[in-house]
Amino acid sequence: ATVIVAIDGPSGTGKSSTSKAVAAQLGLRYLDTGAQYRAMTWWMLTHGVDVADPAEVAAAADTPRIDSGTDPEAPTISADGADASGPIRTPEVTAAVSAVSAVPEVRARITGLQRSIAASAEGGIVVEGRDIGSTVLPDADLKIFLTAAPEARAARRGGELKSAEGGRPVDLAATRRDLAERDKADSSRKTSPLRKADDAVEVDTTELTLEQVVECVVTLVEK
Ligand code: C5P
Repeated sequence: ATVIVAIDGPSGTGKSSTSKAVAAQLGLRYLDTGAQYRAMTWWMLTHGVDVADPAEVAAAADTPRIDSGTDPEAPTISADGADASGPIRTPEVTAAVSAVSAVPEVRARITGLQRSIAASAEGGIVVEGRDIGSTVLPDADLKIFLTAAPEARAARRGGELKSAEGGRPVDLAATRRDLAERDKADSSRKTSPLRKADDAVEVDTTELTLEQVVECVVTLVEK
C-alpha cells in the first residue's frame, strides 16, 4: 500500500529533520516543498525577475525546470539543471521566498509538481511544507502539524544558520524577528496560507527531542 504523510508547520519546529527521519525509517520517499519555492525564488533572483513585482513573478512562474530528488538520505534540488541546494539557504533567498510563494501562478505550478511527485512515489512519501495537508494532498493518510514556542524555534533556526555560516554565531533576537515576519507573510497570503488542516494531528515539539517527535509520528503512521 502507498502511504502519504503530510507534515506542515512553520520553520524552526523540526519539520525537515523529522520528515527525513520518518521517511528513512519507514522506507518512504521525501519531498521538501520549501526547497521547491526557494529554488524558484533563487532562479528568479538570478534571471532578472523583479521579485517585488507579482506580475513579473507570475509571468516567469512556468519557465524554470524545478527538479527534486526524493531520497530522504540525500535529497537534491535543482533549477534548470543547476544545483540549488547551497544558494537556496542564503539570506537573499530567505528574504524573498515569502513574496514569491504568495503569487498564485507560482503556487499553481509548484503544487502541480508536488502532486505528480507524490502520485509517482513508489511505496509512499513524506511531504513537508505549509499547505500540504490543507491544500496540496488533502487525502493524505496522515497529517501532522508541528508547532513550537518562539524561543525554541529561534534557537533551532539559529543553530542551522550557524552551521551554514561555518560556525559563526548568529543574532537570536534577529532570527526570532525574521521567523515572526515570515510566519506573518505565510499565514496572511490569500492563496493556501500556512494553516493546520482540520484533520491534522498537532504536535508541540518545544519540550521534545528529535527522536521523540520521530517516534511519535512513526507510531501514528503505523496505527
Ligand atoms: O520550509 P522553508 O522555510 O524552506 O520554506 C520557505 C518558504 O517557502 C516559506 O516561508 C513559505 O513562504 C514557502 N512555502 C510555501 N508553501 C510550502 C512550503 C514553503 O509557501 N508548502
